[in-house]
Parts: sequence; C-alpha cells; structure tokens
Amino acid sequence: MTTGELNFDSGSTLFAELVLPVPIPKLFTYRVPATFNEKVKTGQRAIVQFGQKRILTGIVAAIHTQPPKEYEAKYILDLLDESEVIGSHQFTLYQWMAEYYMCTVGEVFNAALPSGLKLSSESMVQLNPSFLLDDSEFDFSEKERTLIHRLQSDTLSYSDIAKLLGAKTIYSLLKSLSSKGAVILYEQVKEKYRPKTEKYIRLTDAFTERKKLEGLFEELSTKPKQEAVVLKYLQEVPVFTRRDLNIKGVAKSAFIREDISESSLTTLIKNKVFEEVEVIVPRFGFADVEKDHPVLLSEKQEIARNEILAAFEHQGIALLHGVTGSGKTEIYIDLIRKALEGGSQVLYLLPEIALSTQIVHRLKKVFGSAMGVYHSKFSDSERVEVWNGVLQGRFKFVVGVRSSVFLPFDNLGLIIVDEEHDSSYKQYDPAPRYHARDVAMVMGKQHHAKVLLGSATPSLESFYHAGQGHYGRVALTDRFGEAQLPDIRFANMLEEKKRKTNKGEFSSLLLMEIKETITLKEQVILFQNRRGYSPMIQCQDCAWIPKCINCAVSLTYHQYRHSMICHYCGYREELPNQCPTCSSKRIQTLGYGTEKLEEELKLNFPAANVQRMDLDTTRTKGGYETILEEFESGKTDILVGTQMVTKGLDFDRVNLVGVFDADRMMHFPDFRSHERAFQLIMQVSGRSGRRAKKGKVIVQTSHPEHPIFSFVVNHDVEGFVNDQTNDRRIYFYPPFSRLIEITIKHADRKVCHESAVRLSEAVRSRLGGIKVLGPGEPIVSKIRNEYLMTVLLKIARDRGKLGEIKLALREIGEQINQVREFRSVRIIFDVDPV
Ligand code: ADP
Ligand code: ZN
Ligand code: ZN
Repeated sequence: MTTGELNFDSGSTLFAELVLPVPIPKLFTYRVPATFNEKVKTGQRAIVQFGQKRILTGIVAAIHTQPPKEYEAKYILDLLDESEVIGSHQFTLYQWMAEYYMCTVGEVFNAALPSGLKLSSESMVQLNPSFLLDDSEFDFSEKERTLIHRLQSDTLSYSDIAKLLGAKTIYSLLKSLSSKGAVILYEQVKEKYRPKTEKYIRLTDAFTERKKLEGLFEELSTKPKQEAVVLKYLQEVPVFTRRDLNIKGVAKSAFIREDISESSLTTLIKNKVFEEVEVIVPRFGFADVEKDHPVLLSEKQEIARNEILAAFEHQGIALLHGVTGSGKTEIYIDLIRKALEGGSQVLYLLPEIALSTQIVHRLKKVFGSAMGVYHSKFSDSERVEVWNGVLQGRFKFVVGVRSSVFLPFDNLGLIIVDEEHDSSYKQYDPAPRYHARDVAMVMGKQHHAKVLLGSATPSLESFYHAGQGHYGRVALTDRFGEAQLPDIRFANMLEEKKRKTNKGEFSSLLLMEIKETITLKEQVILFQNRRGYSPMIQCQDCAWIPKCINCAVSLTYHQYRHSMICHYCGYREELPNQCPTCSSKRIQTLGYGTEKLEEELKLNFPAANVQRMDLDTTRTKGGYETILEEFESGKTDILVGTQMVTKGLDFDRVNLVGVFDADRMMHFPDFRSHERAFQLIMQVSGRSGRRAKKGKVIVQTSHPEHPIFSFVVNHDVEGFVNDQTNDRRIYFYPPFSRLIEITIKHADRKVCHESAVRLSEAVRSRLGGIKVLGPGEPIVSKIRNEYLMTVLLKIARDRGKLGEIKLALREIGEQINQVREFRSVRIIFDVDPV
C-alpha cells in the first residue's frame, strides 16, 4: 500500500484502490476523475457506486495508473475530505487485524469507522424534466397526480412521499410513474454526521454604526421591550469600543432570560437590526482542571513506577500486578502526564466505561479537556467528534473501550491496558473478532510506544509472558495507606442445607454478617452472576420446562415484567397460569437470579435500602450513574448485582462482600472457568474494606475444600496461576498452544452437522501436527434458529507459519461452501477465542 506524497503527471489517468465496507476479501479499483487528480490522497473517503443500487463510502488505500484488466473501472463519484480521516498507521494495523483475525479488511474498516463517517444513501424521486402531464398519453390516478404536483416544486425522498400520501408502500406507485416516464429515481448520498450547532445573534453590519444606532434608540423610545433587548446586547457586546466582538455575537439561549422578551428579539431580527447565525460548537464541554493534582506517590508506589519505567526501557512492555486498592490508577496518572509532557499521545484502555465512571471522573479532573472519552454507548456524532479530535490534535489522550484501538493516532507514546485480564476486551461478534489487549501490543510496536498492562488478577497468559522475560513484571502487594486486604471466609451451603440453617439461598453466616454490617451503617455488596428472577421454570407435576422457540435454552423468569425471556435472542412470553402439557397450576421457579435475591433481601431486612445493578436496571441512559450515586451517598445499604458490581468500584464504607453460587462459576465447562471464577471472586472481594477498617468477604459454596479456595483465602494470585499453568501445560491449552475455534452455522441441523464433519476431516488431512477437537455441539447448540457446531484447533506455539495455516483454513472453508448442499453454511473463524 502506498501512502504519503505521490507525484503523477497531471495528464495521467489515475486509479484508486478502495477499501469498501463489504465482506469480500479484496480492494476495489475505481477511476479518479481528472478534476480530482490534484486532490486525491490515501486515507481520504470517497463515494462510489457499488453494484447496481448501492452507494458506499470507501477509503482510498492506494493510488496508481494501472487500469484493471478484467473490467472497466467506474468513476469515483466524489471525495469527501480535504485531508485524510485515517493515517498510514491505521492502514497497517487494520490490515494486520484482517490477516491475523481471519476476516476482510473491509470488515475491519466497517468496525473501525464510527457510522457517522460512513455514508448512507437515500432513494430520491424527481420529476422528469421532459415530462408534461397534459401531453402524456397515459392515465394517472389521483395519488399519482398529487405526487406529480408536489414534485413540480420539490425533489422528495421515499419517506417524504410515504408521509405525503399517507401510504406505507409506495413502491408500485413509483414503478408505475417511472414506467410512464413521469419521474426519475436516483440515490442521494447523505452524510450522517451532523455537527452540533447553536444559534447566536449579533447586530447586523448597518447597526454597528453609531449614527444608525442612535436613530434606532429614538425609534424604540415607544417600544421599551425592544429597547431593553438592544440595551442588554450592548452591555454584553460594547460595539463602540469593541466592534470585533460583534462578529461572534452572543448565544441566543443564554441571552434570553426572564427580563428579555423573545418575541421582541424576533421582531428585531425581522426588522434586520439583529441577525441569527448558526455556530458549530463542540459536544464536549471544557472541564475544569484541578490546578495541581494533589496526590504524591507513596514510597512503594514510587518504587513500582520506577520499575515500570525501567521495564519500558528494557522490554517496552510492563505488567503491573497490584492488589485492589494499591493505587494503580495514581501510577497511571503519573505516567500519562509524563508521556503527554513528552509530546506524545496516550491511549488508556478500559474494559467497560459505564462501569468505570469513577475512574473517568478522576482522570477528567486531572487532564480536563485534553482528554477524550470513546465509548460504545456514546451517540455516533459524539464518536465522530472524538475521532476528529484525535486527527486534529485536540485530544492527545483518549480513555476508551476496546474499539478505541481503531482511532487515528499517529504518535502514541504510551498505551495502558487496565484490568488487562478482562474478557470484554475480546470482540465476539461480528468480525473482526479481535482482542484489544493483543492489538495494543501490536500498536505499541508500530508506534514505538510503551505498553503497560495492569490488573489485580493478571491473566495466565500475561504472567506467562512476563515469566518468559517478554514483559517486565512489577508488583504492588499492599493497599494504599492503612487499608488491608479483606478476610475471606466460606459458607458451606451443603452443611447449612443439611442442618436447615439456611434461609433460601442465604447461608446463616451471610445473613448474620449482613445484619451486623448494616447495623453499623456500613455497606454491603452482593454478587450473583445471573440476572432475572430465576433461571428456570418447571411444572411440578409433569416436569415441563419452557424453552425458547428460537434457541436451545430454557427461558429465564423476570418477575417485574411477568415474563419468561430468552437471554440469547430476546424472545419473550407471558408466564402461563397453567402448564401447557398437563394443565397443572403448580408451576415453580427454580434457582436464584439477582431479582429474586433483591426480593428476599427486602423481606429479610425490611428497614434496609436494597438496590439492584444488572443489565435490566441499567438499560436506561444514566441508569448506572443513579445507582452508583445513591450508593456513594450512603442512601443504599445493600447493592446486589451481576458482574457489574465486581469491577473498579471504590467506595469508603463497603465492609462486606457476599458471593453467591461460586460453584456454578467454577464448573462451567470451559478451560478458563477456574481462572475466570478466581478473578471474579478476587475482584469483587477487592471492593471490601478499602479504607481504614479491614473488610470481610463471604463466599457461599458447597465445596469449600476445593483447592482453588485456598488460593482465594490467601490472596495468592501467583500460587493460583502457577497451579493453573501446570494444568494448561498438561492439557495443551494457551499459553502453551494457540487456539482457533471454527463455528459452523446453518438453519438445518443435518446440513450443519455434515458440513462440520466434512470440514474437520479436511483440516485433519491437510494440516498435520495440529490437534483437532470435534466437531461437537457447543453448550447452546441452537441460537436464533441456527444450529451450531464447533471445531477447535490447538496449534503448537513453535509450529510457526501461522499465516499459512490460516490461509489453508480459509481455503478449506471456501471448498466446503462450494459443495452444493453446503453453499449457505456459514463458517466463522475465531482466532484466540476466550
Ligand atoms: P487501584 O486502582 O489499584 O484499585 P486506586 O488507585 O483506586 O487503586 O487507589 C485506591 C484508593 O487509594 C483511591 O481512593 C486513591 O485515591 C487512594 N490513593 C492511592 N494512592 C494514593 C496516594 N499516593 N495518595 C493519596 N491517595 C491515594
Ligand atoms: Zn405439567
Ligand atoms: Zn432465544
């Protein structure tokens, strides 16, 4: 790919290679109209026609003079930008991602660009200029006539027409009009990004003259309301002394207050005394920056910081293993500040920003408006502004979720991956199925930037690489200040149930501790990794269990909606009054979700204020914030929730954490389930006792003797990792092997199974030395009416030639799709699945 300056003869015919957001693994050649010869650059957006109907935005990847051999190139319709929207670093990175994660460059671009930078095309209708209604040989219906009349003055979009005629389907009408030669249909391209504007008012040029103004006041002497408007304006904009201030004027919304009448202003605008102008304003306000961030690193933190700097010098990558509350964030702040002072850009990756509002606030206080926040819950226009802010240098520092690796950085000096173990760095669907931590490593090399991985519970992989000497390892073993790590104890549910000391899902131990904690006016966090009321419903007489009609899972009961809901596809049904198979009325809910825990807590502690934080209570905008504010202010005594409560929260008065259903987390059939359960328990424990008082943690389990728990009690992350690493070695899982998971999907179960068998046979015979597991049915073997099969490949790390293996796999996939019965089978590759 070529980037940078290119010099062609002004007379030569140029062609551009475009990346288009379509799932076809190639670039597309278009011809550059001669008028664009001077203007066209790589990294620019271009509008092109694709196929018969579609108008797409592509990115110019290369410019050359070679016409395509097989077809005649279409012209580029337009160029959108004066300068490029992505730079050469992005081209290289996106291409690497497409190759490594086995997808197309177009798919990477599609994921990378906020949709506001892409275009949509809208179908438009205009009157045929040579058409005359009275001369036409055809008959026209009433509706057609109405439309023709309107089109004499306007060009209309399909949706305008539908509205005008009050009809939903206008297609046949338009077809008829078009065949009678009355209208022309075409596509108009709309840019989706709309800058935010605000109305400003200012005096028209004429009235900035002293004479003219004096005359105006005479005229207004009988119109005190209008006079007041002009006077107030002159107070804010003294045009006689500072005529230049009138160019900007004042914001209309701020100008109109109680004492100023809007209708008088409107009259003055009509009389051309004032004029209204639209000004583009940034969506992100300018935050107040604390003059001096008052934090001084403690001695231990300073040592850790220096070790990190040494690792940066040596390996370029550091792994900071710091217990919860040790002050990792303060160290990040110190390093970010230094990198910014050195003139380079900084990227700070977080798993989920909504869960990290606290951290974003802390950083905003220090870095103010130089910091951009990039987040999947933001509106698209906001994302475009961050994108452009990075391009134009307004944001030197971005805090963001995984998709911020796509931003157009050109000079990164530091990348921080906070909570590096978190699985939400991995994108599951759609392609590219990338892991932002691993992409960050590649970016580090590209920009010669330092990379810092931080976590209280680093992943096995990162520990392993540090052990191999690829990363420098830095440890912070103590909490900051007086704070100590909490006491972790186990409630033996088997025993409690035998002795009947439990109350529903609550052990007597947990109930007692909750009671004590709230009596002391301290706070409790309870973690149950299951939302809804109960995960299953069953008829007590015939054992009927309601299942999703689209997926192979049972429905979860949600009490607040009185519904049974599928957590895979969203399918929903009312809870029946009686069993549909045996008509029994004895329908029972089984198991506990967060909703039911909340209900039981309210019954057991009627005086306490109980709040729930899960996907259902945080769907609305500001949902998290409200729940967290109420918790912070002390209004909430007990917060019960899913994974959301385990991450990053830093509150003074939480002194008890309870963990439900640890067994289920650990016995999930996946080679990472132990690691994940351990990380979750350690992370949620980290919320307890973050200040002077030592906190408590209670883990409810039927197997307190499980070996994992001895590591949990001792906060022994390293011991746990060593133990697990052994298992991974024995069973040949990462980090000792690389995995590629192939998922085969089809609406017909038989086709799905047969093609999966065919595929795995082809892999086995063609690629020796690779362990092939399966094909097998995944835990959920049907989702949204598609059957699934998976094949797992384990590839030795030292096998090398990963690129060749991937190429061969793609070919095998294509061959399967060439078999007639398997043509519509979908084959999905997931490299490094988690
Ligand atoms: P971590 O990110 O490792 O969980 P934090 O950075 O959130 O830890 O620190 C835990 C608490 O201790 C925070 O409230 C933080 O403000 C405070 N803290 C950490 N280091 C310092 C320091 N050097 N000076 C003052 N307060 C600190
Ligand atoms: Zn029944
Ligand atoms: Zn479903």
